[in-house]
Amino acid sequence: MHDGSDTDGLKRLAAEFNETFQRLDPAGRLALLAERIPGRVVFTTSLGIEDQMITHLIFSNRLKIEVKTLDTGRLFPETYTLWRKTEEQYGRRIKALYPQAEALEALVDDQGIDGFYFAPEFRKNCCGVRKVEPLGRALKGAAGWVTGLRRDQSANRSDMEFVGFDAARGLVKANPIFDWTRDAIVAFTKENGVPVNPLHEQGFLSIGCAPCTRAIRPGEPERAGRWWWEEETKRECGLHVDGAGNPVRDLDNRPAHGDAAFERLPQ
Ligand code: SF4
Repeated sequence: MHDGSDTDGLKRLAAEFNETFQRLDPAGRLALLAERIPGRVVFTTSLGIEDQMITHLIFSNRLKIEVKTLDTGRLFPETYTLWRKTEEQYGRRIKALYPQAEALEALVDDQGIDGFYFAPEFRKNCCGVRKVEPLGRALKGAAGWVTGLRRDQSANRSDMEFVGFDAARGLVKANPIFDWTRDAIVAFTKENGVPVNPLHEQGFLSIGCAPCTRAIRPGEPERAGRWWWEEETKRECGLHVDGAGNPVRDLDNRPAHGDAAFERLPQ
């Protein structure tokens, strides 16, 4: 939760930005967020191609936006190499957030090193410890949160907006490339020399933790390569939540079993 400006002020800003974003390009949108949000603005990057475009715009334009990543400890070697190359190319550090050591030890002790394959609640527990809790710390005290979400990434995201007020976290949540297609982003990265993960060329469109990401086949939806052993409607990691703190996904198809990772979202 943000410690500075009042909630009503941030809600008004979110509504205003949602209108203004229609007329701006991504660089202009990011500059607007950096200039107008009264408090810290944080961009959380997964180092995927959308996020690399945003990182490029922030670093190249020297915008006052903090760039952070969640190192789950299970990322692909290629992702770590890209992380290093990105810091070298732009001369800026990407701040890392790590899982709490005791919670991680307890998780692995309880469900095993690859427990996520065996039960959906184990997967959510793992995402809770390795991603959701560190995300809460990454955003602590921030007034703005920048993400690389795109409207066409999955059905669960089709009713989201450019900018909204995230009531669960008490901040302005902005998606500056929400209206961009993947093809346009690929073209942008090539034209501007933005470093990208070589796995994208091998069919990994959405890249997350190594054991939970596979390449997709032609014609499959972009996020089909994430947690592919679970049903489509249950597949979100809990990082993006609605006003009540629930993950943004098909709520009519909630699993009947526990949802521990989402219940642990920081309030
Ligand atoms: S994506 Fe997989 S390995 Fe990564 S935090 Fe979630 S369950 Fe764990």
